[in-house]
Amino acid sequence: MSTQKIVWNLENLYKENELQEIENDKILIKQLVEKFILNYKNKLNSKKIETNFILNALQDYEKIYEYAYIIYSYFSYKKHQNNLDENISGKYQEINEFITEIENKLMFFELELLSNSEEELVKLANSSNMEKYREYLQKEIKFKKFRLSEKEEIILNKKSQTSSSAFSRLYDELQAANEFSIKLDNKRIKLTYSQLSKYLSSYNNRTVRLNAAKSLTKRLKTDIKKYTFILNHLLLDKQISDEIRNFSSPQEATLIAYQINQNTVDSMSNTITNNYNMVSDFYKYKSSIQNLNELNEVDRYSQIIESKKNKTYTWDQAKKIILDSFNEFSPIFTNIAEKFFDNGWIDASIYKGKSNGAFCSYCVPSKNPYILLNFSGRAEDIRVLAHELGHGIHAYLSRKQNLLQYSSSTAVAEIASVFCEKLVFDKLFQMQNDKVTKINLLGNKIQESFATIFRQNAFHIFETQLHNLRKKGELSSDNINNLFQNTLQEMFGNSLHLSDDHKYWWIPVGHFFHYNFYVFTYCFGESLANSLFNVYKSNKSSFVDNYISALEFGGSKDPYELTKLMGVDVNDEQFWNGGLKIINNYIETIKKL
Ligand SMILES: [Zn+2]
Repeated sequence: MSTQKIVWNLENLYKENELQEIENDKILIKQLVEKFILNYKNKLNSKKIETNFILNALQDYEKIYEYAYIIYSYFSYKKHQNNLDENISGKYQEINEFITEIENKLMFFELELLSNSEEELVKLANSSNMEKYREYLQKEIKFKKFRLSEKEEIILNKKSQTSSSAFSRLYDELQAANEFSIKLDNKRIKLTYSQLSKYLSSYNNRTVRLNAAKSLTKRLKTDIKKYTFILNHLLLDKQISDEIRNFSSPQEATLIAYQINQNTVDSMSNTITNNYNMVSDFYKYKSSIQNLNELNEVDRYSQIIESKKNKTYTWDQAKKIILDSFNEFSPIFTNIAEKFFDNGWIDASIYKGKSNGAFCSYCVPSKNPYILLNFSGRAEDIRVLAHELGHGIHAYLSRKQNLLQYSSSTAVAEIASVFCEKLVFDKLFQMQNDKVTKINLLGNKIQESFATIFRQNAFHIFETQLHNLRKKGELSSDNINNLFQNTLQEMFGNSLHLSDDHKYWWIPVGHFFHYNFYVFTYCFGESLANSLFNVYKSNKSSFVDNYISALEFGGSKDPYELTKLMGVDVNDEQFWNGGLKIINNYIETIKKL
C-alpha cells in the first residue's frame, strides 16, 4: 500500500481554525430565525392558505437549515476523523445543542402549517408553484396525525439530547476506543476494529481468522453489560416516543418516512427467508471443497480456494479500476467520481481515532458529498469504495433538488451504491486470467451477496423481534445473545455452525444503535440493483439516460415512482425472486470453473 495519506479536505466548508467564521455564521442563523418567527408565526393557519406566502416561508426555512447543516457537517466530519479528541467532541456536542435550540424555535412552522385541514394541505401540495416542495409536503401530511403540540414536541426534542442521542454517542465512543490484540508472524499487534475486520473475515489463513475472532469476542464479552444497557435504553426510548405519538407498530414511523408499505417489506423478507436453502447449499459445497468437517463464522467470507497470493491493490490501482468501469457505463459517472478523488471528498486512510466502517454523507446541495472508508488494499475495499461512490454520485446528481427534497427515501438509497458495486465487480472479474483468482472473486461476490441480502434480512427479523420483546420488559444479555444467534443460524441451516462466540457479535453492528429499521434497506437495495443490472445488460442505451435522470430526482419522487422510472415494479412478487437469480448464476459459474 502506498504511504500517501488520503484524507478529507474540509476547506470547502470551513478553513482550519476558522472558528470566528463559524461563530459569525451562528449569529447570522440566530438573526434569520428571529426574522422567520416575526414573519410567519401565527400566520400560517388561515381559512385560505396563500400559496406564495407558504412558498416564501419554505424557502426561508430551508435557508436556515442549510447554514446550520454546514456547521454541523464540519464538526461531525472532524469528529469522525478523531473520536478521541475531547476538544472536537466538545465542539460537536455544542453544535448539536445549537441545532436543537434552532429546531425548537422553528418547531411552530410545521405544526402550524399542519393544523390546516387535510383537504387544504393536499390542495396546497398539488398547486403548481409547490412543485419543488410537493414530495416534502405530502410526507408531512402523512405525519399530521402523529404530531403533538408545540410544547410537547419541544420537550421531546430537548430530552432526546440526553436520551437516544446520548446513548448513540456513548456507543460510538466505546467502539472507537476499542483495541484488539492478535498474534501475527509471532508478533503481538494491536488493532482497531477496522484493522481487525481484515483478519476476521477474508484473511487467507484460518488460524489467524480464528485468533482474530477470539480477540473480538473477548473484548465484547468484557463489555457486554454496557452494550446490553445501551441497547435496552435505546429500545425503550423508541417505545416511549411511539406510545406518545400513537404509532401502531415499531416500524410504522420508519416506513412512513421511507414512503414504503409494510406489505412490500414483508413480501421481500418472505421471499428471502424462503430461499435460505440457497445459502446452506452453497456452504455445503464450500466445505466439501475445503475438506473441513465443520465451517463456522470465520468461514463465511473466506476464500473458496485458499491462495497464498493475497492480492492487494494500491489506492491508485483502485481508483483506476473504478474510473474505468464507471466510464464503460457513462462518462458522466467518471466525471463526477473524479471530483471526489481530486478535491479531497474522500477520507480513506486508516489511522487511530478515526470512525470504523464506511459512509457517504450527503452534506447540503450547495456543497458536496463526503465519503469515509478505511482502505487497506483488499478487493473488498474496492467494493466498499465503489459502493460509497455510488451514493456520492447519487448525492451529486440530486443537487438539482433543494435541501428539503435532497436525499431520496432511505428504502431506495442503496440502489445507486449497489449498482456501482456491480459495475466494478464485472470489470475486476474480466481483468483476471488466473482460474483460482476468478473462483475466489466469484466466491467473494456470492458470499458478500449472502451478507447483504440474507444476513441483513436476518438482522431485520432480529431487530423486529428485539422491539417486540422489549415491550415486555428489559432484555438480559442472554436474551439478546440467543435471539441474535438463533436468527442468524437459521440462514445457514446445518451447513455452517455459528460457534458460541458468535452470539456476542451483534455489538459491532452500529445500525442497531443508530437507526430503527434501516437494515432491510440493504436487502431491498441489493435485490433492486440486481434486477436493474439485468435491465441494463439487456438494453444499455435506453437504460443509462433513464437511470441517471431517476437519480437526479433525489427525494422529489417516492420509491414506487422512482423504481417505475428505472423500469422495475416492486409490487410484483416475482420481482424479488428475480434479484436472487443473479446469485444463482454466480454459483453455477463457480461450479463450472
Ligand atoms: Zn450504502
